[in-house]
Amino acid sequence: MTSCREAQHQEKLLSHGKVAASFDGGWQKRGSGWNYNSNTGHATMIGKETGKIMLWDQRSRSCKTCEYHLANQTQIPDHLCSKNWYGSSKAMESDMAVSMAHTLKNEGCEIKVIHADNDAATTSKLKVDFEDLEKRDDQNHLKKGLSKSLHQMSVKYKELKQDDTREYILRCFMYAITGGTTEDDIKVSLDRIVPHIFGNHDSCREVTWCKYKENPTNFKYRSLPGGNPLTNESLKEELLVLVSKYTSRSDAIAELGSTQANESFNQMASSKAPKSRHYGGSCSLKNRLSAAVLQKNEGYSYLPKVNEASNLSPGDFTTSLTSKMDAKRKKRKQASNKKEIKKRRISLKKKKNLNERKSTIKEGPTYETQFELNMDNTENVPQIPQQIMISGSESKVSMS
Ligand SMILES: [Zn+2]
Ligand SMILES: [Zn+2]
Repeated sequence: MTSCREAQHQEKLLSHGKVAASFDGGWQKRGSGWNYNSNTGHATMIGKETGKIMLWDQRSRSCKTCEYHLANQTQIPDHLCSKNWYGSSKAMESDMAVSMAHTLKNEGCEIKVIHADNDAATTSKLKVDFEDLEKRDDQNHLKKGLSKSLHQMSVKYKELKQDDTREYILRCFMYAITGGTTEDDIKVSLDRIVPHIFGNHDSCREVTWCKYKENPTNFKYRSLPGGNPLTNESLKEELLVLVSKYTSRSDAIAELGSTQANESFNQMASSKAPKSRHYGGSCSLKNRLSAAVLQKNEGYSYLPKVNEASNLSPGDFTTSLTSKMDAKRKKRKQASNKKEIKKRRISLKKKKNLNERKSTIKEGPTYETQFELNMDNTENVPQIPQQIMISGSESKVSMS
Protein backbone atom coordinates (compact mmCIF):
# COMPACT_ATOMS: atom_id res chain seq x y z
CA MET A 1 0.00 0.00 0.00
CA THR A 2 1.47 3.32 -1.08
CA SER A 3 0.44 5.22 2.04
CA CYS A 4 2.43 2.87 4.27
CA ARG A 5 5.40 2.92 1.85
CA GLU A 6 5.40 6.69 1.99
CA ALA A 7 5.30 6.57 5.82
CA GLN A 8 8.28 4.18 5.87
CA HIS A 9 10.22 6.50 3.62
CA GLN A 10 9.48 9.59 5.74
CA GLU A 11 10.28 7.74 8.95
CA LYS A 12 13.65 6.62 7.61
CA LEU A 13 14.58 10.17 6.64
CA LEU A 14 13.48 11.71 9.92
CA SER A 15 15.13 9.11 12.13
CA HIS A 16 18.44 9.17 10.22
CA GLY A 17 18.30 5.42 9.75
CA LYS A 18 17.60 4.53 13.37
CA VAL A 19 13.98 3.69 12.87
CA ALA A 20 11.87 3.40 16.01
CA ALA A 21 8.41 1.93 15.90
CA SER A 22 5.66 1.29 18.37
CA PHE A 23 3.80 -1.96 18.17
CA ASP A 24 0.44 -2.99 19.49
CA GLY A 25 -2.31 -5.34 18.50
CA GLY A 26 -6.07 -5.24 18.68
CA TRP A 27 -8.84 -7.77 18.51
CA GLN A 28 -12.13 -7.94 16.74
CA LYS A 29 -14.15 -9.15 19.61
CA ARG A 30 -16.73 -7.63 21.82
CA GLY A 31 -15.63 -7.32 25.42
CA SER A 32 -12.38 -6.65 27.16
CA GLY A 33 -8.89 -6.56 25.71
CA TRP A 34 -7.56 -9.38 27.78
CA ASN A 35 -9.63 -12.20 26.50
CA TYR A 36 -7.62 -14.18 24.06
CA ASN A 37 -10.10 -16.32 22.17
CA SER A 38 -10.83 -13.92 19.37
CA ASN A 39 -10.90 -15.31 15.85
CA THR A 40 -9.39 -12.22 14.29
CA GLY A 41 -6.72 -9.77 15.30
CA HIS A 42 -4.77 -6.97 13.74
CA ALA A 43 -1.56 -5.14 14.63
CA THR A 44 0.27 -2.01 13.58
CA MET A 45 3.83 -0.72 13.46
CA ILE A 46 3.75 3.05 13.86
CA GLY A 47 6.77 5.26 13.19
CA LYS A 48 7.87 7.29 16.19
CA GLU A 49 8.80 10.41 14.20
CA THR A 50 5.88 10.52 11.81
CA GLY A 51 3.18 8.93 13.94
CA LYS A 52 2.08 7.15 10.78
CA ILE A 53 1.40 3.51 10.19
CA MET A 54 4.39 1.95 8.43
CA LEU A 55 2.88 -1.47 8.21
CA TRP A 56 -0.15 -3.35 9.42
CA ASP A 57 -1.16 -6.95 9.45
CA GLN A 58 -4.18 -9.01 10.20
CA ARG A 59 -4.90 -12.61 11.14
CA SER A 60 -8.10 -14.51 10.89
CA ARG A 61 -8.94 -18.03 12.00
CA SER A 62 -12.17 -18.27 10.10
CA CYS A 63 -13.49 -18.09 6.54
CA LYS A 64 -17.20 -18.07 5.90
CA THR A 65 -16.88 -19.57 2.42
CA CYS A 66 -14.81 -22.53 3.65
CA GLU A 67 -17.11 -23.05 6.61
CA TYR A 68 -20.23 -22.99 4.44
CA HIS A 69 -18.95 -25.65 2.07
CA LEU A 70 -17.54 -27.81 4.84
CA ALA A 71 -20.87 -27.72 6.64
CA ASN A 72 -22.73 -28.70 3.46
CA GLN A 73 -20.04 -31.22 2.49
CA THR A 74 -19.68 -29.69 -0.95
CA GLN A 75 -16.54 -29.00 -2.95
CA ILE A 76 -14.86 -25.78 -1.79
CA PRO A 77 -14.57 -23.51 -4.84
CA ASP A 78 -11.64 -21.22 -5.59
CA HIS A 79 -12.09 -18.13 -3.49
CA LEU A 80 -10.23 -15.37 -1.76
CA CYS A 81 -9.80 -17.23 1.52
CA SER A 82 -9.72 -15.04 4.60
CA LYS A 83 -8.34 -17.75 6.85
CA ASN A 84 -4.61 -17.17 7.35
CA TRP A 85 -4.03 -18.37 10.89
CA TYR A 86 -4.20 -21.89 12.30
CA GLY A 87 -2.57 -21.39 15.71
CA SER A 88 -4.01 -20.04 18.93
CA SER A 89 -5.36 -16.51 19.09
CA LYS A 90 -2.84 -15.71 21.77
CA ALA A 91 0.09 -16.33 19.45
CA MET A 92 -1.33 -14.06 16.73
CA GLU A 93 0.11 -10.88 18.17
CA SER A 94 3.74 -11.99 18.37
CA ASP A 95 3.49 -13.71 15.00
CA MET A 96 2.35 -10.46 13.41
CA ALA A 97 5.16 -8.53 15.12
CA VAL A 98 7.84 -10.91 13.86
CA SER A 99 6.49 -11.09 10.32
CA MET A 100 6.10 -7.30 10.12
CA ALA A 101 9.66 -6.78 11.39
CA HIS A 102 10.88 -9.07 8.59
CA THR A 103 8.77 -7.33 5.96
CA LEU A 104 10.06 -3.92 7.03
CA LYS A 105 13.62 -5.20 6.87
CA ASN A 106 13.06 -6.62 3.39
CA GLU A 107 11.59 -3.33 2.26
CA GLY A 108 14.70 -1.50 3.43
CA CYS A 109 13.24 0.01 6.57
CA GLU A 110 14.58 -2.20 9.37
CA ILE A 111 13.44 -1.17 12.83
CA LYS A 112 16.16 -0.64 15.43
CA VAL A 113 14.05 0.32 18.43
CA ILE A 114 10.67 -1.05 19.41
CA HIS A 115 8.16 0.30 21.89
CA ALA A 116 5.74 -2.28 23.11
CA ASP A 117 3.88 -3.08 26.26
CA ASN A 118 5.64 -4.98 28.99
CA ASP A 119 3.46 -8.01 29.47
CA ALA A 120 3.48 -9.32 25.93
CA ALA A 121 5.60 -12.27 24.88
CA THR A 122 6.23 -10.38 21.68
CA THR A 123 9.62 -8.94 22.60
CA SER A 124 11.22 -12.28 23.35
CA LYS A 125 9.97 -13.68 20.04
CA LEU A 126 11.38 -10.67 18.20
CA LYS A 127 14.75 -11.04 19.92
CA VAL A 128 15.19 -14.50 18.40
CA ASP A 129 15.38 -13.07 14.87
CA PHE A 130 16.55 -9.55 15.66
CA GLU A 131 19.24 -9.77 18.31
CA ASP A 132 20.20 -6.10 18.27
CA LEU A 133 16.70 -4.74 18.46
CA GLU A 134 16.37 -2.34 21.39
CA LYS A 135 13.27 -2.67 23.49
CA ARG A 136 11.95 0.42 25.24
CA ASP A 137 9.37 0.62 27.94
CA ASP A 138 5.94 1.83 27.12
CA GLN A 139 4.81 4.93 28.93
CA ASN A 140 1.33 3.79 29.86
CA HIS A 141 2.48 0.51 31.30
CA LEU A 142 5.24 2.14 33.30
CA LYS A 143 2.72 4.55 34.75
CA LYS A 144 0.36 1.75 35.68
CA GLY A 145 3.19 -0.10 37.41
CA LEU A 146 4.19 2.98 39.40
CA SER A 147 0.64 3.68 40.38
CA LYS A 148 0.31 0.11 41.59
CA SER A 149 3.46 0.36 43.72
CA LEU A 150 2.17 3.54 45.36
CA HIS A 151 -1.16 1.90 45.96
CA GLN A 152 0.48 -1.05 47.69
CA MET A 153 2.46 1.34 49.87
CA SER A 154 -0.74 3.08 50.91
CA VAL A 155 -1.63 0.03 53.01
CA LYS A 156 1.27 0.97 55.28
CA TYR A 157 1.30 4.78 55.04
CA LYS A 158 -1.81 6.81 55.72
CA GLU A 159 -0.33 9.76 53.76
CA LEU A 160 -0.71 7.74 50.59
CA LYS A 161 -4.36 6.94 51.25
CA GLN A 162 -5.11 10.43 49.88
CA ASP A 163 -5.53 10.06 46.15
CA ASP A 164 -4.34 13.59 45.50
CA THR A 165 -1.04 12.80 47.23
CA ARG A 166 -0.51 9.58 45.29
CA GLU A 167 -1.37 11.26 42.03
CA TYR A 168 0.99 14.12 42.81
CA ILE A 169 3.89 11.74 43.43
CA LEU A 170 2.99 9.87 40.26
CA ARG A 171 3.00 13.13 38.30
CA CYS A 172 6.43 14.04 39.69
CA PHE A 173 7.76 10.66 38.55
CA MET A 174 6.25 10.99 35.11
CA TYR A 175 7.65 14.53 34.68
CA ALA A 176 11.09 13.23 35.53
CA ILE A 177 10.79 10.20 33.31
CA THR A 178 9.28 11.87 30.24
CA GLY A 179 11.11 15.19 30.62
CA GLY A 180 14.63 13.91 30.07
CA THR A 181 16.11 12.57 26.90
CA THR A 182 19.38 11.17 28.19
CA GLU A 183 19.94 8.62 30.94
CA ASP A 184 21.72 11.23 33.08
CA ASP A 185 18.88 13.75 32.69
CA ILE A 186 16.45 11.18 33.95
CA LYS A 187 18.64 10.12 36.87
CA VAL A 188 19.07 13.73 38.04
CA SER A 189 15.35 14.45 37.69
CA LEU A 190 14.37 11.27 39.51
CA ASP A 191 16.73 12.05 42.40
CA ARG A 192 15.09 15.45 42.79
CA ILE A 193 11.60 14.10 43.47
CA VAL A 194 11.80 12.80 47.03
CA PRO A 195 13.68 15.79 48.53
CA HIS A 196 11.18 18.13 46.82
CA ILE A 197 8.17 16.31 48.23
CA PHE A 198 9.77 16.35 51.68
CA GLY A 199 10.47 20.09 51.61
CA ASN A 200 14.09 20.27 50.46
CA HIS A 201 14.25 22.34 47.27
CA ASP A 202 18.04 22.64 46.93
CA SER A 203 18.13 20.78 43.64
CA CYS A 204 14.86 22.27 42.32
CA ARG A 205 16.55 25.49 41.30
CA GLU A 206 16.97 24.71 37.63
CA VAL A 207 13.44 23.42 37.03
CA THR A 208 10.41 25.52 36.18
CA TRP A 209 7.75 23.27 37.67
CA CYS A 210 8.86 23.86 41.28
CA LYS A 211 7.65 27.33 42.33
CA TYR A 212 9.48 27.34 45.68
CA LYS A 213 12.31 29.62 44.53
CA GLU A 214 9.86 32.32 43.38
CA ASN A 215 8.49 32.84 46.87
CA PRO A 216 10.05 30.57 49.54
CA THR A 217 8.12 32.04 52.49
CA ASN A 218 4.62 31.60 51.06
CA PHE A 219 5.30 28.42 49.08
CA LYS A 220 2.53 25.84 49.32
CA TYR A 221 2.15 22.45 47.64
CA ARG A 222 -1.02 22.68 45.58
CA SER A 223 -1.64 18.95 45.70
CA LEU A 224 -0.50 17.96 49.18
CA PRO A 225 -2.81 18.18 52.22
CA GLY A 226 -2.60 21.62 53.86
CA GLY A 227 -0.02 22.64 51.26
CA ASN A 228 2.66 21.09 53.48
CA PRO A 229 5.50 18.75 52.57
CA LEU A 230 5.42 15.12 53.67
CA THR A 231 7.33 14.33 56.87
CA ASN A 232 7.23 10.58 57.54
CA GLU A 233 10.86 9.38 57.52
CA SER A 234 10.19 5.71 56.82
CA LEU A 235 7.91 6.65 53.93
CA LYS A 236 10.79 8.75 52.62
CA GLU A 237 13.09 5.72 52.80
CA GLU A 238 10.65 3.58 50.85
CA LEU A 239 10.11 6.24 48.21
CA LEU A 240 13.87 6.49 47.76
CA VAL A 241 13.99 2.74 47.20
CA LEU A 242 11.25 3.11 44.60
CA VAL A 243 13.20 5.88 42.87
CA SER A 244 16.32 3.73 42.78
CA LYS A 245 14.37 0.95 41.03
CA TYR A 246 13.79 3.36 38.18
CA THR A 247 17.20 5.05 38.11
CA SER A 248 18.79 1.63 37.74
CA ARG A 249 16.75 1.08 34.59
CA SER A 250 17.11 4.56 33.14
CA ASP A 251 18.56 3.13 29.92
CA ALA A 252 15.26 1.44 29.11
CA ILE A 253 13.35 4.49 30.28
CA ALA A 254 15.27 7.08 28.25
CA GLU A 255 13.21 8.26 25.29
CA LEU A 256 10.29 6.40 26.63
CA GLY A 257 7.95 5.42 23.90
CA SER A 258 4.27 5.23 23.86
CA THR A 259 1.90 2.85 22.15
CA GLN A 260 -0.80 5.49 22.37
CA ALA A 261 -0.73 5.95 18.61
CA ASN A 262 -1.44 2.25 18.13
CA GLU A 263 -4.23 2.34 20.65
CA SER A 264 -5.82 5.30 18.90
CA PHE A 265 -5.64 3.34 15.66
CA ASN A 266 -7.39 0.42 17.31
CA GLN A 267 -10.21 2.75 18.22
CA MET A 268 -10.43 3.98 14.66
CA ALA A 269 -10.46 0.40 13.45
CA SER A 270 -13.31 -0.52 15.73
CA SER A 271 -15.38 2.32 14.29
CA LYS A 272 -14.95 0.80 10.84
CA ALA A 273 -15.33 -2.80 11.98
CA PRO A 274 -17.48 -2.75 15.13
CA LYS A 275 -16.62 -5.56 17.50
CA SER A 276 -20.25 -6.50 17.89
CA ARG A 277 -20.31 -7.61 14.26
CA HIS A 278 -18.19 -10.30 12.78
CA TYR A 279 -16.33 -9.28 9.65
CA GLY A 280 -13.38 -11.64 10.05
CA GLY A 281 -14.97 -14.42 8.01
CA SER A 282 -14.51 -12.57 4.73
CA CYS A 283 -12.34 -9.95 3.02
CA SER A 284 -14.62 -7.32 4.47
CA LEU A 285 -12.45 -7.01 7.59
CA LYS A 286 -9.31 -6.44 5.54
CA ASN A 287 -10.98 -3.67 3.54
CA ARG A 288 -12.36 -2.05 6.66
CA LEU A 289 -8.94 -2.12 8.35
CA SER A 290 -7.18 -0.61 5.35
CA ALA A 291 -9.75 2.20 5.34
CA ALA A 292 -8.81 2.87 8.96
CA VAL A 293 -5.09 2.83 8.06
CA LEU A 294 -5.72 5.39 5.33
CA GLN A 295 -7.72 7.59 7.66
CA LYS A 296 -4.89 7.49 10.19
CA ASN A 297 -2.13 8.27 7.68
CA GLU A 298 -3.88 10.63 5.28
CA GLY A 299 -6.72 12.09 7.33
CA TYR A 300 -10.30 12.04 6.10
CA SER A 301 -9.20 13.25 2.67
CA TYR A 302 -8.36 9.62 1.89
CA LEU A 303 -11.93 9.25 0.57
CA PRO A 304 -11.63 11.45 -2.56
CA LYS A 305 -8.26 9.81 -3.27
CA VAL A 306 -9.82 6.36 -3.12
CA ASN A 307 -12.62 7.52 -5.42
CA GLU A 308 -10.08 8.82 -7.91
CA ALA A 309 -8.02 5.65 -7.78
CA SER A 310 -11.08 3.54 -8.53
CA ASN A 311 -11.97 5.79 -11.50
CA LEU A 312 -14.90 7.38 -9.73
CA SER A 313 -15.43 11.09 -9.67
CA PRO A 314 -13.78 12.44 -6.49
CA GLY A 315 -16.97 14.43 -5.86
CA ASP A 316 -16.95 18.08 -4.91
CA PHE A 317 -19.17 17.46 -1.93
CA THR A 318 -16.98 14.65 -0.56
CA THR A 319 -13.86 16.77 -1.02
CA SER A 320 -15.25 19.77 0.81
CA LEU A 321 -16.75 17.63 3.57
CA THR A 322 -13.54 15.68 4.19
CA SER A 323 -11.39 18.81 4.31
CA LYS A 324 -13.80 20.22 6.90
CA MET A 325 -13.53 17.00 8.91
CA ASP A 326 -9.73 17.17 8.72
CA ALA A 327 -9.74 20.76 9.95
CA LYS A 328 -11.92 19.68 12.86
CA ARG A 329 -9.57 16.83 13.67
CA LYS A 330 -6.58 19.19 13.65
CA LYS A 331 -8.37 21.67 15.89
CA ARG A 332 -9.31 18.95 18.38
CA LYS A 333 -5.71 17.73 18.44
CA GLN A 334 -4.38 21.21 19.19
CA ALA A 335 -7.04 21.84 21.81
CA SER A 336 -6.27 18.62 23.66
CA ASN A 337 -2.84 20.00 24.56
CA LYS A 338 -4.15 23.18 26.15
CA LYS A 339 -4.02 23.61 29.88
CA GLU A 340 -7.77 24.06 30.56
CA ILE A 341 -8.63 21.02 28.51
CA LYS A 342 -6.07 18.98 30.40
CA LYS A 343 -7.55 20.16 33.69
CA ARG A 344 -11.02 19.21 32.55
CA ARG A 345 -9.76 15.80 31.55
CA ILE A 346 -8.31 15.29 35.03
CA SER A 347 -11.55 16.32 36.73
CA LEU A 348 -13.61 14.03 34.49
CA LYS A 349 -11.20 11.26 35.34
CA LYS A 350 -11.71 11.88 39.05
CA LYS A 351 -15.46 11.64 38.62
CA LYS A 352 -15.09 8.40 36.75
CA ASN A 353 -12.71 7.08 39.36
CA LEU A 354 -15.22 7.81 42.09
CA ASN A 355 -17.78 5.63 40.38
CA GLU A 356 -15.21 2.98 39.75
CA ARG A 357 -14.09 3.07 43.37
CA LYS A 358 -17.68 2.67 44.51
CA SER A 359 -18.10 -0.49 42.50
CA THR A 360 -14.66 -1.79 43.50
CA ILE A 361 -15.70 -1.62 47.12
CA LYS A 362 -18.79 -3.61 46.28
CA GLU A 363 -17.10 -6.18 44.08
CA GLY A 364 -13.51 -6.25 45.25
CA PRO A 365 -10.69 -6.04 42.72
CA THR A 366 -11.52 -8.10 39.66
CA TYR A 367 -8.62 -7.29 37.42
CA GLU A 368 -5.11 -6.03 38.02
CA THR A 369 -2.16 -5.80 35.70
CA GLN A 370 1.17 -7.46 36.37
CA PHE A 371 4.28 -5.40 36.00
CA GLU A 372 7.80 -6.68 35.55
CA LEU A 373 9.21 -4.47 38.30
CA ASN A 374 7.05 -6.01 40.95
CA MET A 375 8.88 -9.25 41.48
CA ASP A 376 8.32 -9.10 45.19
CA ASN A 377 5.19 -11.08 45.90
CA THR A 378 5.43 -11.41 49.65
CA GLU A 379 3.33 -8.31 50.20
CA ASN A 380 0.57 -9.46 47.93
CA VAL A 381 -1.27 -11.52 50.53
CA PRO A 382 -4.96 -10.76 50.05
CA GLN A 383 -6.44 -8.55 52.73
CA ILE A 384 -9.95 -7.70 53.73
CA PRO A 385 -10.41 -4.11 52.64
CA GLN A 386 -10.95 -1.54 55.35
CA GLN A 387 -14.04 0.59 55.31
CA ILE A 388 -13.36 3.59 53.12
CA MET A 389 -14.99 7.00 53.19
CA ILE A 390 -15.38 8.45 49.75
CA SER A 391 -14.56 12.09 49.15
CA GLY A 392 -14.35 11.98 45.37
CA SER A 393 -10.61 12.41 45.02
CA GLU A 394 -9.57 8.81 45.47
CA SER A 395 -8.41 6.75 42.57
CA LYS A 396 -7.85 3.07 42.09
CA VAL A 397 -6.69 3.45 38.53
CA SER A 398 -3.75 5.49 37.29
CA MET A 399 -4.20 8.36 34.90
CA SER A 400 -3.34 7.15 31.49
ZN1 LIG B 1 -11.75 -19.90 2.76
ZN1 LIG C 1 11.04 21.83 44.88
